[in-house]
Amino acid sequence: STKTSKEIIDQTSRYGANNYHPLPIVVSEAEGVWVKDPEGNKYMDMLSAYSAVNQGHRHPKIIQALKEQADRVTLTSRAFHNDQLGPWYEKVSKLTNKDMVLPMNTGAEAVETAFKAARRWGYDKKGIAADQAEIIACEGNFHGRTMTAVSLSSDPEYQRGFGPMLPGIKLIPYGDIEALKKAITPNTAAFLAEPIQGEAGIVIPPEGFLKQASEICKENNVLFIADEIQAGLARSGKMFACDWEDVEPDVYILGKALGGGVMPISCVAANKDILGVFEPGSHGSTFGGNPLACAVSIAALDILTEEKLAERSLELGNYFKEKLKEIKNPIIKEVRGKGLFIGVELTEPARSYCEKLKEKGLLCKETHDMVIRFAPPLIITKEELDWALEKIYEVLS
Ligand code: PLP
Repeated sequence: STKTSKEIIDQTSRYGANNYHPLPIVVSEAEGVWVKDPEGNKYMDMLSAYSAVNQGHRHPKIIQALKEQADRVTLTSRAFHNDQLGPWYEKVSKLTNKDMVLPMNTGAEAVETAFKAARRWGYDKKGIAADQAEIIACEGNFHGRTMTAVSLSSDPEYQRGFGPMLPGIKLIPYGDIEALKKAITPNTAAFLAEPIQGEAGIVIPPEGFLKQASEICKENNVLFIADEIQAGLARSGKMFACDWEDVEPDVYILGKALGGGVMPISCVAANKDILGVFEPGSHGSTFGGNPLACAVSIAALDILTEEKLAERSLELGNYFKEKLKEIKNPIIKEVRGKGLFIGVELTEPARSYCEKLKEKGLLCKETHDMVIRFAPPLIITKEELDWALEKIYEVLS
């Protein structure tokens, strides 16, 4: 393209719906942890597309899988079988230790799928009376932007003007085990939670919460659904954020890095007694399980294990977090995180700091106003992190 960044931003604002507030930077090329704008300026990506690019931009192995599959077949719909879906199922099933997998495309769709599965399981397996099923979720959650996902939200801005919201949802304070116990009734089908809340500002639940929640769910015949869309797939320094407490949720929801930053692909993984509630005709998606996304996802998952990205995230994340904690500045309220999933909470809005970091060549984004999220691709090197730390020191100390 011969357009300048300014021309592209003007065109984008002129013709696009105004539902985002991006930093004023145009990315026209990317490789690994680095991106470039049309003028050739280089930036380090410390957001990783909200953790969808854990494997780094355009990982050669993923691009190779993409190209090879693009030359064979890209879409069949589920009216026919394709030769990539079976191998992908087996891979995700073994990774999650669950019997079955159901593919969708975006995270929100996978949340919808888990929500439907939980309700139907509640009626068919638990014996809840028709239309009485309840799902418990957590304040501060982010599960996406579909009507189910926004109905789950506690943020009035996510719901304003979109009512009526879906019934049958109860919220508890995140991390409050007593509130969970109180909220459960005989009509409770599931408890849905992010093992680490991403969009809320990298909020880690009190130690033991996930374990206790999963036990309480078991005792009450309630499904424990973990939305691992952002925190999972090596981001938090473990393959799944639930692994931090050795918890195996009844249902995993995965997305983002499942497609290696190349293709949208998401899924729900669970055992047969749960996902078996779907029969032909009860749920689906035209693009869900398409061979292009499956081929890409197989490569993306291979990279997580071959390159030990969870271990890498843990080691480098600990290093990075300690260095961030050394910054002495009263505007820093807290540095928290697990692995390379780190939030720096300020006492004032984080936006202007993200703008200043951008001027120095570091791309990150504020989340929930006061928090700067640092979540680089997990292939980042220690030298690259040191480069980032220099820029962060310049802006924050
Ligand atoms: N769930 C969690 C925990 C997320 O972080 C996100 C996206 O940020 C979603 C669901 C929604 O995913 P998508 O934007 O792909 O619909």
